[in-house]
Amino acid sequence: MKYVSTRSKIEPINSAEAIIRGIADDGGLFVPESFPKIEMNEIEKFVGAPYVTVAEKILQPFLTDFTEGEIGECCELAYNYFDLPSIAPLGVLVPDEKNPTNQTGVAELWHGPTSAFKDFALQMLPRLMSVALKKTGEKRKILILVATSGDTGKAALAGFADVPQTKIMVFYPDGGVSKIQRLQMVTQTGNNVNVVALRGNFDDVQTGVKKIFGDKEIAGQLDKAGVKLSSANSINWGRLVPQIVYYFSSYARFVSTKQIKLGDKINIVVPTGNFGNILAAYYAKRMGLPVNKLICASNENHILTDFFRTGVYDRNRKFYKTITPSMDILISGNLERLLYHESGNAKTVQKFMQELNDTGKYKIDKSLKKKLDKIFYADYATEAETSEAIKGIFGQFKYLIDTHTAVAFYVLNKYRKATDDMRPAIVASTASPFKFPGAVLNSLGQNVEGIDEFKQLRLLETISNRNAPRNLSSLDAMKILHEDVCDKEEMPERVLKFAAE
Ligand SMILES: *Cc1c(COP(=O)(O)O)cnc(C)c1O
Repeated sequence: MKYVSTRSKIEPINSAEAIIRGIADDGGLFVPESFPKIEMNEIEKFVGAPYVTVAEKILQPFLTDFTEGEIGECCELAYNYFDLPSIAPLGVLVPDEKNPTNQTGVAELWHGPTSAFKDFALQMLPRLMSVALKKTGEKRKILILVATSGDTGKAALAGFADVPQTKIMVFYPDGGVSKIQRLQMVTQTGNNVNVVALRGNFDDVQTGVKKIFGDKEIAGQLDKAGVKLSSANSINWGRLVPQIVYYFSSYARFVSTKQIKLGDKINIVVPTGNFGNILAAYYAKRMGLPVNKLICASNENHILTDFFRTGVYDRNRKFYKTITPSMDILISGNLERLLYHESGNAKTVQKFMQELNDTGKYKIDKSLKKKLDKIFYADYATEAETSEAIKGIFGQFKYLIDTHTAVAFYVLNKYRKATDDMRPAIVASTASPFKFPGAVLNSLGQNVEGIDEFKQLRLLETISNRNAPRNLSSLDAMKILHEDVCDKEEMPERVLKFAAE
């Protein structure tokens, strides 16, 4: 399998190169030249198979420059730190036993080391990178530099910790992340990790990191130290490809629960921000997974709902901070890959991206819009509707969901009402409810104002009669390893110092 850029004709490259480079020289994203087909008899074999087996089978046709042994080892290592052997279990909610419609499978994608679905990508990417470095003959160490507003930082730290030939350094805004998020990062172990708080807000952190990436002098000094900077950005192909796996495995699990028959078409609902997770579902559909509609669920920053409805992507709008912070995004980077695959034309994508850059918006033509209409349905949930979904699902099924997952549930409900399409659906559940205890408790009618986050966590355990994931509940007893705080002027020197260690 070869990879090309979404923005112009380039000499196709193999997957190891695409993973190391991250982004194409023309600013485009790397995409596979074709969609490998997974036949129904192959999907049948996934029923009852371990997650790692499904992962190997899905990754192989995309990573044809990796040996089966290398892919096998990456998969074994990546899913080692999940808290259940099933890796991505499927909860099943059946509203009416006598009426075989309306069932919802909940793909619990939060049993990884940081209790959110980004672990699937960020546990795998470092392994793939490590093998890719060997393949491309790169002798330098890769230093991953991350600016985080909370969640991505920890997932990246956990993924890169102790991975050979890599180092990882994370900057976060001092006082700008939750207590749990901070503790998750500053207690990170590993001989190649560093975490620094920056006096400033998230914008300062992001600007500082961007500056370092663009600084030729720093790159020169790092090169002398045998280090090359890279990012764990969500547009890296190595982050996207592992996410395709759980759509196949969840479908197979739905079959094994007897809620659907092999070959039945289902709907898939994904709470969306950067459009990565739902794009992975689109790949699964293109590869042959029986999917009717992909339902794109947004929060009050519903730029994607508007795009799918009107054909205009317009980021000139107000930005809202919501109880689903991981979806508070106005630039859905991975949408570019969808535009490429459905328009089949890099020149068109190049034009859209230029317009987006110059004016903050672009409009797709009627024929492209028609194609997207066939595949996608899009809607959003307000803050109140998100809370309503948490309360409703808990009331009806005694099943606790987080705020992001609640957005998906609310939109699924809206879709079913609007279309009468009651077929079984799978909801991507992207975070543990214990990751956002305050907002979840609020939704259940508890007043949590002024209550410490760990107390909230215990309260939620009591109310829901469930245990929080250990990686969260044991945090307040863990040793703090990273206490460094710096000003933005000091960022380059911190990076150079860590690189030289
Ligand atoms: C990142 C994230 C999302 C959004 O996923 P995208 O791939 O960016 O669309 C949704 N929910 C949670 C909990 C997340 O961390």
